[in-house]
Amino acid sequence: MTKINLSELSIKKAHELMHSGDISARQLLEFYLDNIKKHDKDIHAYLELFGDAFENAEEVDKAIKSGKEVPLLAGIPMAIKDNLLIKGKKCSSGSKILENHIATYDATVIDKLKKEGVVFVGRTNMDEFAMGSSTENSAYGPTRNPHDHERVPGGSSGGSAAAVAQQECLAAIGSDTGGSVRQPAAFCGVVGFKPTYGAVSRHGLMAMSSSLDQIGPFTKTVEDAEIIFNVIKGEDPMDSTTANIRPSSDSKIKTIGVPKEFFNLEGETEGVDKEVAKAVLNSIEIFKNLGFKIKPISIPSLKYAIETYYIIMPAEVSSNLARYDGIRYGLSEDGENLLDVYMKSKGEGFGPETKRRLMLGAYVLSSGFYDAYYIMAKRAVGLMKKSLKETFKDVDVLLSPTTPTPAFRFGEKTANPVEMYLADIFTSAANLTGIPGISIPCLPHRQAGLPAAEARLDEASARREGKKLPIGLQLMAPWFEENKLFELGKLFENNL
Ligand code: GLN
Repeated sequence: MTKINLSELSIKKAHELMHSGDISARQLLEFYLDNIKKHDKDIHAYLELFGDAFENAEEVDKAIKSGKEVPLLAGIPMAIKDNLLIKGKKCSSGSKILENHIATYDATVIDKLKKEGVVFVGRTNMDEFAMGSSTENSAYGPTRNPHDHERVPGGSSGGSAAAVAQQECLAAIGSDTGGSVRQPAAFCGVVGFKPTYGAVSRHGLMAMSSSLDQIGPFTKTVEDAEIIFNVIKGEDPMDSTTANIRPSSDSKIKTIGVPKEFFNLEGETEGVDKEVAKAVLNSIEIFKNLGFKIKPISIPSLKYAIETYYIIMPAEVSSNLARYDGIRYGLSEDGENLLDVYMKSKGEGFGPETKRRLMLGAYVLSSGFYDAYYIMAKRAVGLMKKSLKETFKDVDVLLSPTTPTPAFRFGEKTANPVEMYLADIFTSAANLTGIPGISIPCLPHRQAGLPAAEARLDEASARREGKKLPIGLQLMAPWFEENKLFELGKLFENNL
């Protein structure tokens, strides 16, 4: 069996190795399972490993042996966030209330990946119903950051991010409602991508906040994210918000805008950690050297993104989670009457953060407050979209840090929910307005003999010995112009 270095593996490389017969899909899966055995007891990225993964891998091997040209993703071991339905498998959204829930159909994204021959390794840990920035809100215990076990991996898709960073799968799928793919990607040192709202079907994704949710990949390189996006995107009759929209322009990227509300080029930005600022400035230098124009801009409405998010999101959460009532799904407690059944089932099944948001959501939607909060927040979103449309006449993409700080320690932000919410201060605007965003590791970890993109993926353990924590750079593009993010992202990786 060919010995391969998992940290150097990309989707294309794995595909080539399988096609040339150097490794089989089964062997590839075994490599990752070995790593899971070695590391997952420490980091707890997975909630469950799927028993049929070997069968799926063997099917791919059979197809290759018979001389078939298989798709790029065939045989690629992938991890799936615990809020995406895979028929016949448990899906709990990190919650006790759905502890024994078995999915009755495949999410559209899962269906598309299955058709490609992806090997699903298992389901990954997450904050309950995707609410959180650290996985500390999972009913099944937290995931640990592979770079420093005392620190959080980010959230809510922390399990997916950690699994990729620890080489426990080649790629993973997550969901991003306010930053839940990009923020954990930044904390774990991998690429995390949120497509335009409507580019990828949400059918079969357990709804958190329906006007903001999008599904996106975690990968080691920008190219891998692009490959997965090209498979999962597209219009779906099961999700009426999806559309097949091609990028409106193929224009060359010339100008990169840096909103001063997110990052001040002229001095310190309040709340942004010094190491993060240094890494972002270094990244800006790289773009300058590549000939791009860096333009400081101002989009005043962005200052209100996080406040606006924390009105719209809980409002939608409170209506979406009403379905978990102890009658049709999941945990059901006996009670004296219907109300008692609801109270006991929800009281027992939901964790504290979920309860907090349900109350917040019911409050902002209640009669007398609806106009003052919900309607006002929707107006703020309108303003942000309008400002962004104007801004994109002037600049081709936007750049900012993904998060204000690197990964924080367990417990550091649990006492003060508002501090925890600030972890998404730079990411939530893309969800509110619907634009695509990508987080790319931006600390140079060049190693002799390895191209930059792969060198960055060096063993997490090396960095645990007092070395630097990963930092993410965020790029955002106009609606449906994810091609710009891929183009710029690849260029950046190769010059880091
Ligand atoms: N951290 C944010 C929250 O707690 C974002 C969550 C998400 O994107 N699912 O709401």
